[in-house]
Amino acid sequence: MKSLRIGIIGAGLAGISAARALASRAHTVTLFDKSRGSGGRMSSKRTEAGELDMGAQYFTARDPRFRRELQRWLDAGWAAEWTPSLYRYDEQGLTASPDEQRRYVGVPRMTGLSRQLLEGLTFNSGVRITDLQRDDEALWHLQDEHDRRYGPFDRILLAVPAPQAVTLLHDAPSLAQAAAQVRVAPCWTLALSFAEPLAIDMDACFVRTGPLDWISRHLSKPQRFGADSWIIQSNAAWAAQHENADPAFVRETLTGAFAEVVDTPLPAPSQSLVHRWLYARSVSPCDWGALAAPDLGLYVCGDWCLSGRIEGAWLSGLQAADSVV
Ligand SMILES: Cc1cc2nc3c(=O)[nH]c(=O)nc-3n(C[C@H](O)[C@H](O)[C@H](O)COP(=O)(O)OP(=O)(O)OC[C@H]3O[C@@H](n4cnc5c(N)ncnc54)[C@H](O)[C@@H]3O)c2cc1C
Repeated sequence: MKSLRIGIIGAGLAGISAARALASRAHTVTLFDKSRGSGGRMSSKRTEAGELDMGAQYFTARDPRFRRELQRWLDAGWAAEWTPSLYRYDEQGLTASPDEQRRYVGVPRMTGLSRQLLEGLTFNSGVRITDLQRDDEALWHLQDEHDRRYGPFDRILLAVPAPQAVTLLHDAPSLAQAAAQVRVAPCWTLALSFAEPLAIDMDACFVRTGPLDWISRHLSKPQRFGADSWIIQSNAAWAAQHENADPAFVRETLTGAFAEVVDTPLPAPSQSLVHRWLYARSVSPCDWGALAAPDLGLYVCGDWCLSGRIEGAWLSGLQAADSVV
């Protein structure tokens, strides 16, 4: 097959996975992302208290293809196993909840992994694509929010959350319809940092009552440094109910819920950050792996085409790359 020029919108793990698979087959790949960095929902935020994982907290690996890829990341030192002392909090209170699940994180932060994986690929960051246009020769051109144009491309691969894909799929109504059916839940994340470490044994906790879903201690992950920071994430129902809430209210409510879980009066944090993920988790992924309109040269992938998790994003990217070629 001749070498194709392929434009990929979205440099989260799905887009990066597709890009690497296509580049390894000698196609010319150009990635675009509206954010300044890569990794999408698997990214970390640089703060005075360290680089904090505000989105995905860890990943698991079940599929043999993803396990082989993970082994490469482990060997290269881009990922490491995380073995937190795990708890569960529900109506009965806080209990230790060890399990057999193997958990992995990017090192020295989640974004570290996507940065390494992008090495050698052409990546345009800070470019929000607002339109895809096909010319008379069936070649694609991309337009960004400042009316700049990019292309031509033989194929386009969309690797963005389902609601963001819908707006770009006007030329492929059946794909737009499939994407529109995926429900995506929001999430509020609060990061609290303390000058003195909190006297708490727990590294991470699944919360099953109240507004929270998850708590983790930044320093319990491998190769993390800085202050004693805690990542506190709301559950989807609470976030949906308070989608447009004032961040000060969110900070106060989630801090109170955290204090209740750890049953400890909290000192004043040295830093607190609130972040809203509007499209955090796909609650009804479509399970097709990837979507394709081959007659148009248009392909779609993302976590929402599989499990709604990091592993699903990676595998979806691979499947989309296979469909392209
Ligand atoms: C709070 C939170 C906690 C999570 N916890 C876990 C967890 O513990 N384990 C797990 O496995 N998964 C977790 N997830 C889910 C995991 O992060 C995602 O499944 C995975 O990162 C999705 O990858 P993706 O490439 O499909 O999408 P994304 O990572 O969302 O990448 C899409 C990219 O497209 C870009 N983009 C969107 N629109 C445009 C546009 N118009 N132009 C240019 N760029 C655009 C975005 O900026 C983004 O970088 C969590 C997610 C969140 C938000």
